[in-house]
Amino acid sequence: MRNNNNDNTQWQPATVTIHGGKRPDVHGALVAPLYQTATFTFANTEQGSARFAGDEPGYIYSRLGNPTTDELERRVAALEGYPAGAATATGMGAVSAAMLAFLQQGDHVLISDAVYGCSYALFSQLFIRFGIAVDFVDMADPDATQAAMRPTTRLLFLESPANPHLKVIDIAVIAAIAHQGKARLIVDNTFMTPLLQQPLKQGADLVIHSATKYLNGHGDVVAGVICGHDDDIGLIKSTTLKDMGATMSPHDAWLILRGLKTLDVRMQRHCENALEVAHYLQQHPQIAAVHYPGFADHPAQRLMGTQMHGAGAVIAFELKGTFDNARMVLDKLQMITIAVSLGDAETLIQHPASMTHSAYPQEARLQAGITDTLIRLSVGLEAAPDIIADLEQALSYMAVAGVDRKQKGDKVSYG
Ligand code: PLP
Repeated sequence: MRNNNNDNTQWQPATVTIHGGKRPDVHGALVAPLYQTATFTFANTEQGSARFAGDEPGYIYSRLGNPTTDELERRVAALEGYPAGAATATGMGAVSAAMLAFLQQGDHVLISDAVYGCSYALFSQLFIRFGIAVDFVDMADPDATQAAMRPTTRLLFLESPANPHLKVIDIAVIAAIAHQGKARLIVDNTFMTPLLQQPLKQGADLVIHSATKYLNGHGDVVAGVICGHDDDIGLIKSTTLKDMGATMSPHDAWLILRGLKTLDVRMQRHCENALEVAHYLQQHPQIAAVHYPGFADHPAQRLMGTQMHGAGAVIAFELKGTFDNARMVLDKLQMITIAVSLGDAETLIQHPASMTHSAYPQEARLQAGITDTLIRLSVGLEAAPDIIADLEQALSYMAVAGVDRKQKGDKVSYG
């Protein structure tokens, strides 16, 4: 008799991506069916009222739960190692639903000083309108983090590696500070995926993902997932998700379920390509700095093998020259695509100062290390030599149009 309980504790991550949290289908379908339905019918009024009262298990309405989104929640939670998950309409839906479920007027939250631009906008502009005090702190500095804690601090939120310049934070240290202050720690694990980092093991209370990125991996869905302990996920589902409504569509869940199956092989290829591209960029004369956790001298190496099991495939690099030079290089690329996402098969490139992080005021942006010439590259699954060749031809314009002219004091132009 086959054991269908899919206890993933003895499996390696590659196996969990395919089998973890999977429930056998009633008809024996290999692939989880897509329940593309808004609502669920009741046999009679008694059954309807029993479902609403919670006296009978079963589905009611897809905003409250759907078998396809439930399958995805179980699958991602199994990968992260948490008992429960909640699927959300977008990554920002996951950030806002997870945070707001635990907050009320007068509470204080502590946020890492380098987070995705819309997370920054949510915390710095929206939260404060509802009487939630917000402080941004360098969470790579435990003393500064400890000093910023208040008796009213309820939540700490971080990304590691941090968007977009890959600052790495010791999650266990920040979890200890949070718990000492009776606060929860929420980690945005989008850049790493559960294959390269499982924040639960470092003590995070909740993990969120933009499933738009590596979890789906095919660039055709905008979605998010929250993973956590049963009580916390139950609270999120019954409050901020149910009533604010940023739940995932079953069709999106179905597409992500398909993407998840190849997460392990995709991440291996992403990481191999990224290391090769990072080494190429590092030796380029027009590049002032390359930020990549895979370099032997990167501070992230201290956490390799414990917190991190790979460096990921996002690289940030700073060009010599100006804001205009950075934009010129992007415009000269032929195969690499200018787009503000990451984790897709296609290599994507973007200019944080004018795109993802344009919501930051200039001073805060520069303080977070997001300079005018910083470029973010999400290394895809193409052959690494082709990615490098495209970068090489685009960067060659720097010597001709950018730096030479700038030295003569000309305004750089291109077109
Ligand atoms: N978290 C990180 C690290 C991101 O990079 C993004 C988007 O780029 C988000 C959250 C938001 O995700 P979404 O665009 O799916 O709402």
